Amino acid sequence: MHSLRQYDVPLHKYIAMMDLQERNERLFYKLLIDNVEELLPVVYTPTVGEACQKYGSIYRRPQGLYISLKEKGKILEVLKNWPEKSIQVIVVTDGERILGLGDLGCQGMGIPVGKLSLYTALGGLRPSACLPVTIDVGTNNEQLLNDEFYIGLKQRRARGQEYTELLDEFMNAVKQNYGEKVLVQFEDFANHNAFELLSRYSSSHLVFNDDIQGTASVVLAGLISALKLVGGSLADHTFLFLGAGEAGTGIAELIALKISKQIKSPVEEARKKIWLVDSKGLIVKSRLGSLQHFKKPWAHEHEPVKELVDAVKAIKPTVLIGSSGVGKTFTKEVVEAMASFNEKPLILALSNPTSQSECTAEEAYKWSKGRAIFASGSPFDPVNYEGKVFVPGQANNAYIFPGFGLGLIISGAIRVHDDMLLAASEALAAQVKQENYDKGLIYPPFSNIRKISAHIAANVAAKVYELGLASHLPRPKNLVKYAESCMYSPVYRSYR
Ligand code: NAP
Ligand code: MN
Repeated sequence: MHSLRQYDVPLHKYIAMMDLQERNERLFYKLLIDNVEELLPVVYTPTVGEACQKYGSIYRRPQGLYISLKEKGKILEVLKNWPEKSIQVIVVTDGERILGLGDLGCQGMGIPVGKLSLYTALGGLRPSACLPVTIDVGTNNEQLLNDEFYIGLKQRRARGQEYTELLDEFMNAVKQNYGEKVLVQFEDFANHNAFELLSRYSSSHLVFNDDIQGTASVVLAGLISALKLVGGSLADHTFLFLGAGEAGTGIAELIALKISKQIKSPVEEARKKIWLVDSKGLIVKSRLGSLQHFKKPWAHEHEPVKELVDAVKAIKPTVLIGSSGVGKTFTKEVVEAMASFNEKPLILALSNPTSQSECTAEEAYKWSKGRAIFASGSPFDPVNYEGKVFVPGQANNAYIFPGFGLGLIISGAIRVHDDMLLAASEALAAQVKQENYDKGLIYPPFSNIRKISAHIAANVAAKVYELGLASHLPRPKNLVKYAESCMYSPVYRSYR
């Protein structure tokens, strides 16, 4: 830690950490676990974003497996070349929507590598059981296509049949090589592929899309926990999203599912208090004909509204969620409007990295006169507003996916079900303590994350058993203890 702290530039810390991971894996994890709050922003958002943008010029060694269009017909063989044989989790991207930074092609590899480091550090999966994969089908990023240091195929993205066939071969090869119980986490795919891939493989493989499902689960957990501060039940609230893509509609669906279970009515009924804005304005009935399929359930009866601030004034939401990937969109006017009709406006700026955050923590507190309950996808430092210190929480799927994946693996799950996402949300919300609420936090601190992950894993595993989707039998009696006992710890062996 002493030598790491000598670097002022975050990217240099990132490079030093990647070198350490290569050189002394156990020490890397020991450091990451013991200093999680300090090092998470280095190996994960926001620094990992800059690392992906510059991946070609900071490249040292391949940290994951690259599968390109050129490997078509040979993917199983390529998988067999990976030195580790017993893989439990694969995080795969095609690099088309890296954080809120857009198409970074093959350089998106930083994301699967970073996510899997967190699987080990936060969720206790063995490092050797984790496989980062980047599917290289080209990039439409002109800057990268012209960059001499670009590490991927210098061609425009394959689409349609060519793309589908490659992904299909990959998914089949994965199942053939690692069996039914390997978890495949889709990460940072553009939404025109993400929804499609998830629905295509969810009935034949153990698949999970972190941007759609993980984000949904972490945000729902934050909302359940925020009810302690704002009062009422979920069904009493009105939700407005800026951004109706993977994150936005994924979260909206899970909130609706939770409400529908609570009020015992169909999910269509629960959707009525959830509104979304995309790049063309509020999603309303009159736009139905031209909407992508995942937006259609959210087209409610309302006159068209173009600007977010007008949508806020018209809908009067109690909860405002940013999931557009576009920074600085929660303007002073927007936050002031939220604060004008809410005693405690709940504002979540989910877009990553920090540059894309809808507003900063300081802006949220200042413009709401210290009344906002705020959390963001990338971390912000505590804010001193008129003598009071506000600690912003981090609404990031890193709270969920490591424990969620651990729960699937210890139960030997063969499929993912939405009820498992709800189980993860409830377990996370239950970990928020009074001392956290006292600081305005709706998430627990990351410093306890391994314990939190064990609780999430246990609740998820319990649901897997209940649904009859577990293959690890008999069911362990105490699932929390069992989850903890399965977790990898970076300790040196005693030879005495
Ligand atoms: P996505 O599927 O591409 O969706 C983006 C959505 O934002 C689309 O609906 C798009 O509208 C809309 N949009 C874009 N520009 C806009 C503008 N200027 N005004 C209004 N709406 C606009 O992306 P995603 O997967 O949902 O991710 C979005 C962001 O969420 C990224 O920054 C990502 O890093 C972040 N995220 C955070 C977490 C977390 O844990 N905190 C997890 C996942 C994702 P159109 O549909 O009209 O194009
Ligand atoms: Mn992601």
